[in-house]
Order: sequence, then C-alpha cells, then structure tokens
Amino acid sequence: MNDTLPPVVPYIGRFAPSPTGPLHFGSLVSALASFLDAKANQGRWLVRLEDIDPPRTQPGADKKILCALEAHGLHWNDEVLYQSSNLPAYRHIIDTLISDNQAYYCDCSRQMLKNYPVYPGFCVSNDKLTSENAAIRVRVKDEDLVFEDEIQGRQSQQLRKDIGDFVIFRKDGLVAYQLAVAVDDSRQRITKVVRGSDLLDSTFRQVYLQKLLQLNTPGYAHIPVIIGTDGKKLSKQNYAKPLDPKNTSNNLYLALKALKLEPSRDLINAPPSELVQWGVVHWDIGKIPRKLGIEVHLP
Ligand SMILES: [Zn+2]
Repeated sequence: MNDTLPPVVPYIGRFAPSPTGPLHFGSLVSALASFLDAKANQGRWLVRLEDIDPPRTQPGADKKILCALEAHGLHWNDEVLYQSSNLPAYRHIIDTLISDNQAYYCDCSRQMLKNYPVYPGFCVSNDKLTSENAAIRVRVKDEDLVFEDEIQGRQSQQLRKDIGDFVIFRKDGLVAYQLAVAVDDSRQRITKVVRGSDLLDSTFRQVYLQKLLQLNTPGYAHIPVIIGTDGKKLSKQNYAKPLDPKNTSNNLYLALKALKLEPSRDLINAPPSELVQWGVVHWDIGKIPRKLGIEVHLP
C-alpha cells in the first residue's frame, strides 16, 4: 500500500479585537464562537490586538479586553500579538506592491469620491504622485472572487464591479486594516476565522490580498451579528454597554444561547470555566442560522 494520508493541519483560530473600547456583548459572542470552534476541533486559539489606528485606539482598552476575556474563561494560547509591532513588515509588503506595479498612489479627496460606490480609478495612470499626502490602492483584477463560508455558504463578488481598487495604505500615514489582517492571519498560520458577518465584505478584500501575496487563506465562518432589543447591531458605535465583570456567568449563559446552544437553566450560576467547557462539548456550528441578526434580550 502506497496510500499516505494527507498531513493533518492543526487548527489555529483567533480573536482579533481593536482596542477602541471595552468588550461588549456582541464581541463576547464572536470571541466565544471562535474559541468554541477552535477547542471543539482540538485547536489552538490566539488573540491579536489590532492597534494600528491610533486615533481610534483608547488607552488601556487592550488590557481591559484581555482581562474581560480571562474573566469569562476564554484563555488564549501563545503571546498576544499587537499589530503595531508588525508595522515594518506591512510597510515592506506595501513597498513591494508599489514596485511591482500592483499598487499605486491616489490623492483623491473624500469629497471627490463621495458619489462613487466603487473607486473610479482617477489616479490609476497618474505616475506623478508620490508618497507625500497620498493613499496607496491595490489594483484588483477583472475577475470573480469566490470563497466558501461555513455558515453563510458560497460567497461571490466581482472584484472590479463590487470592490474596485481599494486602499492598503491611508493618506494619514496608517496601514489599512485589510492589509494588516490579511498578512497576520497568514503569518500566524490561522486555519479558520470565525467572526461577525458585518466583516463579510472585508473578507473579499483580505482573501484577494492573500492570493496576490501568495499567502495562505484560512477557512471562514461568519456568525450573524447580534441585534439588541432596539433592533440595532450591538457595537461600540451605538454604545453597546461594556460587559459587567460581576456578571460573567450570566454573560456567558446568554452568549451560549445567542449561538443557538441550549444550556440548561441550572448552568446560569455555574463558574465561567464550566460554562465554557459545556460550550466546547455541545458546540455545533451547523446550528447557527445564516440569517443576519440573532436577537438577544439583554438584562
Ligand atoms: Zn485617486
């Protein structure tokens, strides 16, 4: 027999919050989903802090997020990666894309672009522009990009028509989120990204960059976003309340319910480690609905 089994790729998942505020219920659900999927697959679970947007970063939010994860029994493997420590690597990749003519400078103002849903390519052949006060856009190819999402099913967009050449380096001198995420998911050998479906559109950009840079692309599962009783998505923007650190068991109980698991009522007051362990044993990604918006009645 010459049959050899393909090598088993160990599962590596991640949770990657931006330290722009404390953890709220919606982000707890995302963190828990990615943790449970990793642990139910005997995987590792990493935490990465996406702190490359200083104007939006809130001092001390990183520590608060990490404390909240630990208080909820979500213990990560390895050291926490801060994206700000990778800036030279991102810069190097951006410079290479420019020198390979895969990316170009763009000095269009927000005002100039406000009536265009997709970048119309004003700067595509303007070779007079330099890094002074210009953003950098990556060229997209005239093709479809397709990926399989474990919850949302097959996803497809036409790169030129739906996305257009997009920004990888901002006019204000900051590396764009899409590039940093695409690079780090590959550098950290992430095999599966479980996160909120509000990031589905970003995934196309990240997968495109990974293909262009010949990096690994992880698998994806986008969970529906959590809708509060007011009908709005919970987020820092609409002031979702920070999680109450005195209520960790109740927070986890509700998060398990949001993920369509059915913890019995006597687990409400169980310690976080027990609730999380219960979740690992009962995790079933197939139960998560595709539809956007899991409504949760918060206390
Ligand atoms: Zn432009």
